[in-house]
Amino acid sequence: FDDRDGFIWFNGTLIPWREAKVHVLTHALHYASSVFEGERVYNGKVFKLTEHSERLRESGAILGFEVPYSTQELNDATMKVLEANTIVDGYVRPVAWRGSEMMGVAAQQTRINVAIACWVWPSYFSPEARMKGIRLTTSRWRRPAPDTAPSRSKAAGLYMICTLSKHQAENDGFHDALMLDYRGRIAEATGANIFLVMKGALHTPVPDCFLDGITRRTVIDLARRRGLEVIERPIMPSELANADEVFLTGTAAEITPVGSIDQYTFTPGDVTKALIADYDAEVRA
Ligand code: PMP
Repeated sequence: FDDRDGFIWFNGTLIPWREAKVHVLTHALHYASSVFEGERVYNGKVFKLTEHSERLRESGAILGFEVPYSTQELNDATMKVLEANTIVDGYVRPVAWRGSEMMGVAAQQTRINVAIACWVWPSYFSPEARMKGIRLTTSRWRRPAPDTAPSRSKAAGLYMICTLSKHQAENDGFHDALMLDYRGRIAEATGANIFLVMKGALHTPVPDCFLDGITRRTVIDLARRRGLEVIERPIMPSELANADEVFLTGTAAEITPVGSIDQYTFTPGDVTKALIADYDAEVRA
């Protein structure tokens, strides 16, 4: 992914894609002192850009550092890098991390670096898999308790269990993994939140140990605007037997229908289809 044409915004300036490098003794590389965002741009406009820029700053604050650019500066930098790469439909990846000024667990004097990259990324899951509904399997890794890891931060370190889960799922022939939380409740997928449709109402887990996704909140709003009931509550895996439809939500995944989770099967239906249409209209509005 590093060997391509284009530009990356790096600590205030646009530099050629291939030159956007860091030292091997970067603190973030050794100790995961890094936070990031994932954004989508539709028709030249980043959907909920300010929310994403604010979340990047908040994620950093949770890890104990201040992202050295304001929300407005991050917004402006994002538009600049999109323009430099002539991307009107694609994905944006801001990242902030502790640099290589000191080595060891303590890193109080490290510089906080920020980079923003963007590229064309049409679909997170293949379009064929999306239409039928993707297949998930339950991960053996669980989302940690909020006093075990800073689960409200979109912190790189938390993605270690996501990559482990996703690789295991892919190696076993699935598209993605369902992660339970530390209590054994349904939490989320490895890069997206989850919704169950039961008797026409939406049920989704309480986001108390994983990201309360921007897409998740958008979909809750869209559903309520449609007059659908939305219930945030603890959900046990056995309840998948009573779900008529299941879908994932995330910036990259958008709304992705789920066809099965282990032995439970679902058919993408009217509710999922209606919300996909609403979401498409909302992001392009
Ligand atoms: N959970 C995880 C683990 C994620 O990586 C993402 C994607 N950022 C989400 C949920 C969904 O968040 P959002 O809708 O803000 O993209």
